[in-house]
Amino acid sequence: MTVRRSWAFGRGTRTASWACRIVGPWLAGLLGALVAAGVARAESPGFDLDAFRYRIATDRAAGLAEGFALLDAGTFRNDPTGERMLLWYMGGAAVGSADDAALARITGRLDALAHRDPVAAPFAGFIRGARLLDTGRKAEGLVQVLESAAAIDVSIDAQLARIVAGELCRSYAAADRPEDGLRHCRRLTLLVAETDDTAALARAEYLEASVLSTAGRQDESVPLWRSARQRFLALGLDGLADRTAGSLAGDLLLAGQATEALDMARIALAAAERAGSATSIAFATAPLAEALIQLGDPSAAAGALEHALAALDGVDLPGLEANLLRLMEAALSAMDGAEAARLEAVRTRRAELEATLAMPADSDRIEALERALRERDFELRIRDLERDTERKDLALANARLEAELRERRLGTQRAITWLAVAAAVGLFGALAAAVLLLRAQRRLALQLETMALRDALTGLPNRRALTTAAARLVTPDGAIAPGHALLLVDLDHFKSINDRGGHPFGDRVLAAVAEALSRVAPAGSLVARLGGEEFALLCPGLGREAAARLAEGVRAAVEGLRFDLDGVRVPVTASLGVAATSQGHPLELSHWLAAADAALYRAKADGRNRVVLAD
Ligand code: GH3
Ligand code: MG
Ligand code: MG
Repeated sequence: MTVRRSWAFGRGTRTASWACRIVGPWLAGLLGALVAAGVARAESPGFDLDAFRYRIATDRAAGLAEGFALLDAGTFRNDPTGERMLLWYMGGAAVGSADDAALARITGRLDALAHRDPVAAPFAGFIRGARLLDTGRKAEGLVQVLESAAAIDVSIDAQLARIVAGELCRSYAAADRPEDGLRHCRRLTLLVAETDDTAALARAEYLEASVLSTAGRQDESVPLWRSARQRFLALGLDGLADRTAGSLAGDLLLAGQATEALDMARIALAAAERAGSATSIAFATAPLAEALIQLGDPSAAAGALEHALAALDGVDLPGLEANLLRLMEAALSAMDGAEAARLEAVRTRRAELEATLAMPADSDRIEALERALRERDFELRIRDLERDTERKDLALANARLEAELRERRLGTQRAITWLAVAAAVGLFGALAAAVLLLRAQRRLALQLETMALRDALTGLPNRRALTTAAARLVTPDGAIAPGHALLLVDLDHFKSINDRGGHPFGDRVLAAVAEALSRVAPAGSLVARLGGEEFALLCPGLGREAAARLAEGVRAAVEGLRFDLDGVRVPVTASLGVAATSQGHPLELSHWLAAADAALYRAKADGRNRVVLAD
């Protein structure tokens, strides 16, 4: 039979560790001293609550008596927080000493404080829960503790947060759920490490070690026990150091280090004997007996157990008693010549106790509460963060909202602007295109018109332009009104000019003649190139004599033009036929042109470079 099994009394397949049964209840005994770690100094002037905490942890009975006396004297009449803390430490002592009468008075007073201090009632719940857990009503006890934890807003006070973490840590462990408790134990250790309270840190380490031990993690609990014990010794808190020795002894046993365990257990038992506390003696005796059994001295173990069980007589700690009885069984079984009747009596008593310990688990309720608590924890964390950043977030959200609105407005404006621009551009484009198209059409039309009515070489109006202009002079009865003149101009021997100077030279001559004709032509007249080297001047309103003078001027102007080829002058002359309409001799257009042409013909025939007037 292994050590662990020999100690086990857990239900079903679960094998409770030594610490589960020994250290768990012991933790309850240390409640007041341990979980009150780092609690604020109360505001009652003239009373040192810290000192009281140490006093009551060292001597529970005396501490309880002192506490009740203080309350009766009205020391905390105007200090509900101070009174609550005093009652809290007293509650720890009452649970530790299984003093139900004191416990009822303490929780009653806490409940009465509830109207002045919102935390008082949950504190009463913690104390009741701890006691329920100690008496084996684990589910009920855990529910009490969880409900109380849920009722405290830990975000308002770091010290309250430490108490709640400590209670949850310890209670889960006492309810055989150490793994669930570890989270809270570690939180407590971290919270306490943030302060510079070494004593509180030692207590938190003690608590975490206890739960690690309960969870069967001796490799982790042993170093933490040692650390806590060293801190207690350094602080001169010998009582707590001795209790730590007892806990360390239990885990050393499980780690197979019986010799060191025996030393530690002896230290713890000596301290318990000095304090005269039955529960402490019982707690310290368990590892001592186990170490003795392992080291081959079961009769010494049985003697120690006998003493511890006698001290426990009348104290309602069934778990602790059952454990001592199981150890007694082991010791008696290991002894030669043990009395069978005595062994049987031990077995019967233990079976009775264990029957009362096995309560149905109220798992659903616990689960629901745990869920609520977890959610609340989460909410609280979020609320903490939110509180810090609330204003910032709000400002940020506002800024974002404003930016978004601005962006949207801008977007809308931009869209409208773009639409307007697009519409304007479209419209403008369409207009511009239309204008350009119209212009192009007009230009084309002009070009076409120019091409139709102008001569390309000289830029003068062509034959069609001349006939059109002449047609305007025709009256409604088809005759040309009197007082207009038409001059036909034909260059003389132009073929030979072309022959001498080439066609380009001939072109230059034609252009120069056109220019000369335009220069001498009177205002309102039309100079046209009819084709080849033939030109015409249509002079509305020009009489016969004036026309003759003009024709002579034209002839002279042409003759006066200077053209040279290789330094040799090339003479250029023109012959002119002039037809002027006169009163009493109306002419049709074709006849007018023919008359002028006939006159020109005569000028050629008469020797060229001259003017001939039609009759
Ligand atoms: P006439 O004195 O009898 O009028 O003799 P002419 O040589 O001037 O007459 P004809 O009608 O025989 O010759 C006209 C010449 O004009 C023929 C042709 O080569 C030339 N000609 C016609 N159009 C152009 C032109 O645009 N440029 C040039 N360089 N010569 C042209
Ligand atoms: Mg000709
Ligand atoms: Mg000619």
